[in-house]
Amino acid sequence: MRHVVIVGGSYAGLRALKEIAKIPNIRITVLDRHPYHFLQTEGYDLIAGKVPFDQTIIGLRSLCAGFGNNVTYLQGGAERLEPEHNRLVCEDGHVIGYDTIVIAAGAVTRFPEKVEGLRQCSYGVKSFRAAFLLKQFFEAELYKRLENSKDAKERYSILVGGAGLSGVEIAAEMAAFFIRYYRSNALSCGRLRIHLAGTKLLEGMHPSVIEAAKRRLEYLGVELHLGAHIARTEEKRAFLENGETIDFDFMIFTGGIMAAPFVASLPFAHNGIGQVEVDEYLRAQGSENVFIAGDAADLRDRNGKRVPPTAQSAEASGTTAGRNVAALLTNRPMHKADIKLRGLAIALGSPYAIIDAGAFRLYGYPAYLGKKAIEKIYKLPLRYYAKRGFSKLAECHR
Ligand SMILES: Cc1cc2nc3c(=O)[nH]c(=O)nc-3n(C[C@H](O)[C@H](O)[C@H](O)COP(=O)(O)OP(=O)(O)OC[C@H]3O[C@@H](n4cnc5c(N)ncnc54)[C@H](O)[C@@H]3O)c2cc1C
Repeated sequence: MRHVVIVGGSYAGLRALKEIAKIPNIRITVLDRHPYHFLQTEGYDLIAGKVPFDQTIIGLRSLCAGFGNNVTYLQGGAERLEPEHNRLVCEDGHVIGYDTIVIAAGAVTRFPEKVEGLRQCSYGVKSFRAAFLLKQFFEAELYKRLENSKDAKERYSILVGGAGLSGVEIAAEMAAFFIRYYRSNALSCGRLRIHLAGTKLLEGMHPSVIEAAKRRLEYLGVELHLGAHIARTEEKRAFLENGETIDFDFMIFTGGIMAAPFVASLPFAHNGIGQVEVDEYLRAQGSENVFIAGDAADLRDRNGKRVPPTAQSAEASGTTAGRNVAALLTNRPMHKADIKLRGLAIALGSPYAIIDAGAFRLYGYPAYLGKKAIEKIYKLPLRYYAKRGFSKLAECHR
């Protein structure tokens, strides 16, 4: 029986799985170092303490079982690919043979080397662990102020480095949460300051979206430091290129990504941030049976323009890669990828969001409802598969 391996059970990998699982008489293994799919796009809700952590993850073992008896989830880290032998070597030495493989191992936060001290002084938010730690840290600070009036009077600053989509969402959501918390409890902890620093706010987005986001952030009391890079950081202080300094107690960095280490180690052509260059069918350049999807791939639209790394492009590329794997295994023609963004939804401190769908833009509460609906539409089928898989697994153990 032919064997398909998927590395990475997240937006891209799970979309690929959905397509490949439709093919009869194959075996599928999903390998991920974590036993859950972290819903990164809802990380802002987790960090701001708005939802319990289990709402932002879906268990991969149950989820995979829900797709069929021929789908197995394996927990572990991929370490090395040997495409000439169709073999994947895991970190624990386990070797997995495959006929076709989809690599959807995503990306990690990139801390630019030239920014001295940044890696040591700040946290990324791309993993569930980092988002969870940040949530705990934020809540602990609020709690300290609740218990102790001396602490309550102390100023506390959070610095969010990077004013792109994730930085803006996190800064806005923490500020909105804090305002709600503060007002509802009438606590004397009004001295929490949230700074957002980056060269440009929501670079590349429509000017009216940028303007509305800026107004919203200012309304929430987020202090904006735009127009300069962070030059260096030391414990509790960031120095901007324009000479400004920002004191902080906790720093989050969202200023860039690079391919996950396993992706960057693959023996194929890469771009400057380690993503794998792919052909029109989403195979690694020069390979017949290695497909790359999501943030791991250097995705381009039909005009060769780079597609930003988003959950949306990860899902679209995962679907295309999955369909092409299915085509390859059933001797049907493959389809050229046509990855494009249909728009973006930006959470700006509930209940406010902006949806920019190109043809139209929505602001405020209707956009917030729209964003929540998009999240639900993504999650519900996965929760259904996970539930089905869980019942199956429970029955096996009875
Ligand atoms: C705070 C935040 C907010 C965001 N908001 C939005 C948004 O509103 N809309 C949007 O479209 N995008 C958003 N994004 C971007 C989006 O989350 C990513 O583009 C998306 O997660 C990429 O999906 P992926 O499947 O390619 O990779 P990932 O989601 O990064 O998943 C990679 C998977 O591979 C696994 N893995 C990695 N290395 C290995 C290994 N060696 N072995 C085994 N497994 C491995 C990981 O455990 C993980 O499960 C946001 C990102 C952040 C951080």
